[in-house]
Formats: sequence, C-alpha cells, structure tokens
Amino acid sequence: MIPYGRQEILQADIDAVVDVLHSDFITQGDAVPLFEKRVSDFVGAKYGVAVNSATSALHVACLALGLGRNDWLWVSPISFVASSNCGLYCGANVDFVDIEEESFNICPKKLEEKLLIAQKKDCLPKVVVAVHLCGQSAEMKRIFELSLQFGFKIIEDASHAVGGKYLGEYVGKCRYSAITVFSFHPVKIITTGEGGMALTNDAGLAEKMRLLRSHGITRDEAKMLSEPDGPWYYEQIELGFNYRMTDIHAALGLSQLNRLENYIERRNAIAKYYNSALQQLPLKLPLVNGNCYSTYHLYVIRLQLKKIDLSQREVFEILRSKGIGVNIHYIPIFQHPYYRKFKLKIDEFSNTLKYYNEAITLPIFPSMTKDEQQKVVSALSDVLKR
Ligand SMILES: *Cc1c(COP(=O)(O)O)cnc(C)c1O
Repeated sequence: MIPYGRQEILQADIDAVVDVLHSDFITQGDAVPLFEKRVSDFVGAKYGVAVNSATSALHVACLALGLGRNDWLWVSPISFVASSNCGLYCGANVDFVDIEEESFNICPKKLEEKLLIAQKKDCLPKVVVAVHLCGQSAEMKRIFELSLQFGFKIIEDASHAVGGKYLGEYVGKCRYSAITVFSFHPVKIITTGEGGMALTNDAGLAEKMRLLRSHGITRDEAKMLSEPDGPWYYEQIELGFNYRMTDIHAALGLSQLNRLENYIERRNAIAKYYNSALQQLPLKLPLVNGNCYSTYHLYVIRLQLKKIDLSQREVFEILRSKGIGVNIHYIPIFQHPYYRKFKLKIDEFSNTLKYYNEAITLPIFPSMTKDEQQKVVSALSDVLKR
C-alpha cells in the first residue's frame, strides 16, 4: 500500500537523537530552546513555545488568550477534531463556519455574515481558529480585518502549513494572528515523533504558554507571590499541565528542520505532476490561491460525481484495493457523535457537506518515488474511465 503520507528518517536524524541520549539531559536540556529558536527564527516570529503536540499547543494558546466558560470559539468544520476540542477543554462553547468552495478553508464571507448575526445576539466569539487546510493559508488578511471590527483573537492552526507562505511571508510569523500552532506528528511536514509549537510575537502570551506547559510553576522571583524559602524554592501560580517536549524529540526536529525547504519543494513537484497528469479526468484538482505557497501536506481531489457512475465510497474502495492508500480529510467535526449533542444547524454548511461527499486525499510525501506517483495516476485513471 502506498500510504497517503510518510515521514523520512535519515541517518543524520538518528545520530542527532543518539547524541542527546548520550548527553546529560534527555529532557529540559539545550535542545528544546534551540529548536524553539531555530523554528521561530525561520518563520520570523519572536517567540516559539515547544510542547508535546499541536493539540497541547492549541490548548495553551486558548488559555493564554483567556478563553473560558461562556466564551465562544469558532472554527471551520473540515479539520482534525483537535482544532475545536481545544475550545471545549477550556469550558468554552464551540461553533463552526462553513468552508470556501475553492480553498476548503474558513470562508471569510460566511464568517462575516455569522459575526453580524452573533453581534445582534451578543454572542460574538472570543477566539477564531483559522485552519490552513492541506498547507494553504486561509485568507488571513480579511480574517484579521474582521477580528479588529468584531474584537476576537485569531489562532492559526498551521499543523499542515509548516514552511508554507502567505503574501510572501512564512506562515507562523503571526502578522495576522495572536498565535500560530505547528504540528510535528510523523504524517505532517517535519516530525519530532509527537510534538508541536506555538509561535507568537507577544511576550506576555509566550510567557503564559511556557508557564502552562509546565504545571504553572515558576522559578522567577519577580513572579512569586511569597518570599523564597531558600534557593530550592519555586511556586505554582497557575493550574498548568505537563505538556513539555523532550530533548530527544527536539533533536529529531532540529535535524529535520534542515530539510524543511527541500521537503516543500518535493511536495510541490509531486503536486505539479498530479496537476498535469490528472487534468483530463472528471475531477476538480486543488487550486492554490496566488497569495499562497502551499506545503501540499495533503493533495485533495474532488470527484465530479455527475460525470462518473461511481460513488465516492466506491472510488475510494477500488483505489484501496489497488494498493493506493487514499484517505478522507476530514469528516466534518460536527458530525462526530460527541459533537452532535450541540445540535448545530446543518443547513449552514452546504460547502462542507458537498466537500465531504466528493473529496479524496491522494498519497503525497517527500520520499515518494516517480514510480509510486505514476501508480497513483494510472489507478485513478483506470477507475474513472470505467
Ligand atoms: C494533526 C493536526 C492537529 C493535531 O496535531 P497533533 O500534533 O497530533 O496534536 C491539529 N490540527 C490539525 C489541522 C491537524 O492536522
């Protein structure tokens, strides 16, 4: 089976991890702060806070922005459940905004319409999560303008978009958001095994997130509420978590970071091949907005169901039977049983439901061979030409 995504681990990665294992500190040593510095320097953000997953990063990001009970978090429903679970962790309410037909990202127009209604009902969101689906940035400039008008904070869920660009700048620079979150899970762009990072230009938010990732404990006298009892003294001043990244993970990330740009180039080259090889088939191929340089974390095709005799499920099953590890990203979050109790009005989400009915993710990863790429194209051609 050709998987839809796969990490690449080279000897240099293994050596970097082994070096840490031989060192004095396998966690809370030098590798984590160095990884934070390298990633934040690379994207042009002031601060990077490394944690044990993007899910944890989303959680501490929401808490740092003050999200809590009676607040609302809004997000697009075509995403991984972590993009909205972070709101529920904070005791907030979660609601969704339909996607754009072309980019599969949150639709700024529908966002504006929904904000105007929420304003009248006095239930505006405190946080909007903009997911950069497949590695293409959402329309951040427009969403940022809306945030100024309606007073919400923006978190970019850039789990797919590490190394991508928007208006000529790296995603993660936080020009149009308070905080950007990266994932380093093995199917994503670069990996630390499990891992994530929150990027920000706001010193206060960075400090808050650092505190929350490590039990809410401080060793900084200036922040303590009491006089230190002695040199061993530390204080817990918030209810935090153990969301720390280890130096073992950070070492792997540092080594992988050296190949980030190369990975994105290889993913773009595969996408370019798919774009030309699939253009005659009854499909809608992914469009990348001129504002964006996509990472192509995912290559999602849309079936033109009116032109073929097969259902999405049949196409999916035939491709799997031919050894093509296709996938679907994602089941609309509100359709999961856990979310059904929130009783959302489904008719608001026509683009989301249409997308879920037509979308199929094709394999794409940096080490994918030309032979594997051709197998995907010929299998898909065979299925759709029946
Ligand atoms: C993978 C993913 C996450 C969660 O990342 P983890 O590092 O596995 O916690 C969140 N949001 C999106 C859009 C993702 O794809």
